[in-house]
Amino acid sequence: MLRLMRDPNLLPSEKQTLLSNIANLAASLGMPCYVVGGFVRDLLLGRPVNDLDVVVEGDAIKLGKKLVETYGGKLTTHFKFHTAIWHLPDSDDFVDLITARKETYDRPGALPTITPATIEDDLLRRDFSINAMALRLDGEGFGEVLDPLKGQTDLERGVIQVLHPKSFVDDPTRIFRAIRYESRYGFALDADTQALINPEALKVLHSLSGERLRHELDLILDEPHSVQMILRIASLGVLAAIHPKMPEFNADHEDFLEMDMRLDVEADRRVMSYMFWFIDLSEADVITLANRLDFTNELTLAVWAAAQLKRGMPHLIDLRPSEWTYALEKLPLLSIYAVYLISRESALLSYISIWRHVKPQTNGDDLKKLGLQPGPRFGEILTELRSAWLDGVLSNKTEEEELLRSLIAPRS
Ligand code: ATP
Repeated sequence: MLRLMRDPNLLPSEKQTLLSNIANLAASLGMPCYVVGGFVRDLLLGRPVNDLDVVVEGDAIKLGKKLVETYGGKLTTHFKFHTAIWHLPDSDDFVDLITARKETYDRPGALPTITPATIEDDLLRRDFSINAMALRLDGEGFGEVLDPLKGQTDLERGVIQVLHPKSFVDDPTRIFRAIRYESRYGFALDADTQALINPEALKVLHSLSGERLRHELDLILDEPHSVQMILRIASLGVLAAIHPKMPEFNADHEDFLEMDMRLDVEADRRVMSYMFWFIDLSEADVITLANRLDFTNELTLAVWAAAQLKRGMPHLIDLRPSEWTYALEKLPLLSIYAVYLISRESALLSYISIWRHVKPQTNGDDLKKLGLQPGPRFGEILTELRSAWLDGVLSNKTEEEELLRSLIAPRS
């Protein structure tokens, strides 16, 4: 384990230094100190680690204050959970500082009530055995792995296993987490664990807030194997439990998520994923699910527009470029791009790469100079000029000036 921890390909040397600084301070405060969870799991798998989750037997907030005093940075504290986030100086990086704790659930799906406890108790409250290992950082125990739930054996067998039968009922977000690890590492759910994703646990999903559900779905969508994960949660009845209208992900659309986004369209993988996922839904169902999953207005608009555009495509096919442009201009660019990827309709590509940038050379100031009073007619004239460019009626400045003269000439 120590060899893995000293491997700069797995843990950059500045993080190694950071951990030893934290451990020294914790030791000076008499607090046994551990890194836990994904850190230990990924290190044992020989994968680079990112997040540092530090658990102390003592008071994580006190340790956090001391770290800020000694090394700078900022602290965000959560007194209710006895946790703190140490934002490192001159960097976007942070370390989670956690007081070892016990958790009890007052009702299924609720946030837990917590009490300070030992590291062993803290490991017992965790989701799966592979995430319930701790690595001691301070004092003589440095480098020792605590693995009371046989996480290392499950890592070697490639098995995801909950720690007790009520785990998914207490917190059904663990179902999503299980599927993330299963696909990410090519592991399998232990048979008893899979059987616990039963109607009782699925029912609790129903009462979970939209915000918590979307957070879990977002994390899935960030993963390279996201589509496989969505199909898997669908097969376990999770999607239907979230809402009966939740569709499956059309696997034909999977490759689109890997497209390198040329055409200067800024493509956010999550937004693209939700668009492809919901693109065949009716307007009403898009709105229902956007509400259930607490979508932001921006995400709702993107998904709604993609679904509407895809459905409306047969009515747009024969339009002139200017008509396409004015129809598309109201929609988010990413939604148009998504429908282009699915339909390969060349007008959509022309709009994205050319038409939306086409403007007449004349502007409002020019119209004023020609003696026109600003008003609605300004916009109409500029639109007519733009349409003429888009539809190929104009090809140079002289032609535009000629058209402009005819447009502003007094009408007889
Ligand atoms: P990932 O690589 O997906 O980020 P991680 O293990 O770092 O995995 P986090 O969400 O950062 O995941 O959580 C850190 C640790 O906290 C986990 O390893 C696990 O031990 C514990 N944990 C997180 N969420 C839960 C939960 N819902 N129930 C129980 N334990 C949890």
